[in-house]
Amino acid sequence: MFEKILIANRGEIALRIQRACREMGIKTVVVHSEADKDAKYVKLADESVCIGPAPSAQSYLSMPAIISAAEVTDAEAIHPGYGFLSENADFAERVEKSGFVFIGPRPESIRIMGDKVAAKQAMIRAGVPCVPGSDGALPDDPKEIIQTARRVGYPVIIKAAGGGGGRGMRVVHTEAALLNAVAMTKAEAGSAFGNPEVYMEKYLENPRHVEIQILADEHKQAVWLGERDCSMQRRHQKVIEEAPAPGIPRKLIEKIGDRCAEACRKIGYRGAGTFEFLYENGEFYFIEMNTRVQVEHPVTEMITGIDIVQEQIRIACGEKLRFRQRDIMLSGHAIECRINAEDPFKFTPSPGRITGWHPPGGPGIRVDSHAYAGYYVPPNYDSMVGKVIAYGATRDQAIRRMQIALSEMVVEGILTNIPLHRELMVDARFIEGGTNIHYLEQKLAHKPDLPKDGAIGAKSEAADPKAEQ
Ligand code: ADP
Repeated sequence: MFEKILIANRGEIALRIQRACREMGIKTVVVHSEADKDAKYVKLADESVCIGPAPSAQSYLSMPAIISAAEVTDAEAIHPGYGFLSENADFAERVEKSGFVFIGPRPESIRIMGDKVAAKQAMIRAGVPCVPGSDGALPDDPKEIIQTARRVGYPVIIKAAGGGGGRGMRVVHTEAALLNAVAMTKAEAGSAFGNPEVYMEKYLENPRHVEIQILADEHKQAVWLGERDCSMQRRHQKVIEEAPAPGIPRKLIEKIGDRCAEACRKIGYRGAGTFEFLYENGEFYFIEMNTRVQVEHPVTEMITGIDIVQEQIRIACGEKLRFRQRDIMLSGHAIECRINAEDPFKFTPSPGRITGWHPPGGPGIRVDSHAYAGYYVPPNYDSMVGKVIAYGATRDQAIRRMQIALSEMVVEGILTNIPLHRELMVDARFIEGGTNIHYLEQKLAHKPDLPKDGAIGAKSEAADPKAEQ
């Protein structure tokens, strides 16, 4: 096993990885920007290295700075977390060429999955069902584009091969709008992602987002750890995740899970990964694969009892998976609420000093957060300040525990989206289960009367954020 791992990330995931390492008796090196020098996990690390100023481009995205930090501290492996350089194939390659272990997939796997056209083709070959659409990238010939759209059937969606973060997509409802939409998406994709290639898919109107977590080792063993439902989204950003996905027949999930594990064996995938699907009318359609640990991994950990970050480390060390598919038992239900430093209904970011921090607790509650009273939320990064995860024997119990947890939680000094989560945990459609990816946005659009200062019996937990800056 490794003796020392460098954590190339920040915030809650840096703390999460550090906890996994400490439990395994592995020393940690944390790299940080000047803005994060006082973070708790930086102080708790065995060693820390400041790698640059606050802007990520000069710190968390600086490959030479991170690799030099590994060199000077004698770390053996680098865990990239999520975001930043975690899905950058060039980084994974440079880490390995410099003699360190990259805790993640092989650079070739990251590269294929980062190109959505290549990823889809690899999945079709591996027998994973995909959204019907063009065979690979769209050609230049307008006649062929029109024919493809007629075959697929309107509405269609034009997507950039190099797209990500919910950008580089355009829905087309009529043939009259088609060629113009393709030209515009190509131009945008070229300037935003440096790759003008676009492809076409059938636009599914009311799908759910359901994803499969997998673990695969270097020895061609792969297992899937159940599914997660991440349909509660705003602007393609996940807000609440849960496992299992309510109301989907187990047989269907098992079939798709087995396909994903089989695909990993076929493509020689290594590490943790997530197959993302849209689910509509009883069918799964692959949309993309994430080649890293995900924000929502704790809900899977709660229902499987498997520590995904520790498994990533073991796999990177060359160990064989310690379990087979038949050993994976799913038990109970888990829900995660992402706590963001933002206005709960206007969604404007709310960085600043947290003056009061009272996290919830009690049976079945897990809080993954690097925040504390006195912590300053820097304006430079993602607004997520933590995650509250509730586990119960049943979905009803998990919801009830989450309602209690959110009613106990107090964050003062900044605005957070806790009031929105409180609303959602008593929403009749959410409680019923199985809402689609448009539900949250439709609810927000149709509820202009949503309280602006916290809800469900709670006073606003946020003072004027500016007062603290
Ligand atoms: P990104 O990498 O930008 O996240 P994805 O391919 O994962 O892009 O798609 C992001 C979101 O866009 C999906 O969760 C879904 O809401 C929507 N979407 C993508 N493809 C389709 C499709 N074929 N039909 C309907 N919605 C889609």
